[in-house]
Amino acid sequence: MANKDYYNILGVKRDAKPEEIKKAYRRLARKYHPDVNPGDKVAEERFKEIQEAYEVLSDEKKRKIYDRFGYYNDNLDPDSPFASGAGSRASSTGFDFSGFTWDFGTSSTGTSFRDIFSELFGGGRRETEPPRPMPKRGEDIEIPLALSFEEAVKGLTTTITVNRSEQCPRCQGAGDTGGPLVTCSTCNGTGRVTRFGGRIQLAQTCQDCVGTGKRRQPCSLCGGKGVVPKTEQVKVRIPAGVDTGSRVRVPKKGHGGRLGAEPGDLYIITNVSNHKYFTRKGDNIYVTVPITIPEAVLGARIEVPTIEGKAQLKIPPGTQSGQKFRLRGRGVPSLRNPNLRGDQFVEVQIKLPKVISEETKELLRQFEKINPENPRKEMGLE
Ligand SMILES: [Zn+2]
Ligand SMILES: [Zn+2]
Repeated sequence: MANKDYYNILGVKRDAKPEEIKKAYRRLARKYHPDVNPGDKVAEERFKEIQEAYEVLSDEKKRKIYDRFGYYNDNLDPDSPFASGAGSRASSTGFDFSGFTWDFGTSSTGTSFRDIFSELFGGGRRETEPPRPMPKRGEDIEIPLALSFEEAVKGLTTTITVNRSEQCPRCQGAGDTGGPLVTCSTCNGTGRVTRFGGRIQLAQTCQDCVGTGKRRQPCSLCGGKGVVPKTEQVKVRIPAGVDTGSRVRVPKKGHGGRLGAEPGDLYIITNVSNHKYFTRKGDNIYVTVPITIPEAVLGARIEVPTIEGKAQLKIPPGTQSGQKFRLRGRGVPSLRNPNLRGDQFVEVQIKLPKVISEETKELLRQFEKINPENPRKEMGLE
């Protein structure tokens, strides 16, 4: 049998490192393995060549002999002074093919082909091992918080109970502590899970085993989740000026991260209740205040409510019902710039006295005589 270029057969350089040789061998063996190519004689021959090359090149001593003599047999001494370099005696001595066994049992060098093939074709650890989980930031948590009108305008600091989680202290979020591979309990080994999105069923790749169906024995503390639940009292500062639907961020108080990644954030979603007489639009506050007929006619200084307490409002003589007055800077603090505030608008409404006495009626008849103008005259009415 003619000498063969084992390096060429494996497609590696002459100075290839043992790992490179092993890698090349695995790739080729997987491709030409008889199980993969049943009945293919060419593939079978190629496969034998590959094995032959690998048995020599994977063994330090045999490789040394091959490099020196250009071929290998058991009787050669790698340190022989008669060697003249790799390949130089290629035609002089044949390769002793009979020294090899093809039953995938233990070869003459002690290298077990069976071990290698079990790695290549399942059953082994390395090839079926699910990818190690990556560091993953924790998920955000959203919690609604009901606020009174005043609390929203003035802000408050409060403590709320948050059902969050933290990175598992036993597995550091990996979900396992390196135990044996077992069937993934999340997907029962199928690698797929079904999720219900409304009425639609979605089959998705199982995240716990990354679709492999196998995972390491889950961590006994977190059950493989990588995080452990934690109920925490979180102090929350709600800034002045929030409204219904505002999102107040509390950094790193969401769910725990995995493998050293940051926790998510906590978001407080505020829901502001209605006030007895104030309403709000943006940063402005609106209120309707009743006034008497004399106050409207003669003018007056009246007290009006604001969110910060009472304020004075000057009603000029001849004020009509429905007229609006602005109190600058008495509205809601701006969330964007706490130094700015909206305004308060006061709408006055003339209110009649509840009981109108005969004396009042007589006064009003006299009033009508002195003031005979018709307010609907402009509408062409009598
Ligand atoms: Zn754990
Ligand atoms: Zn799974």
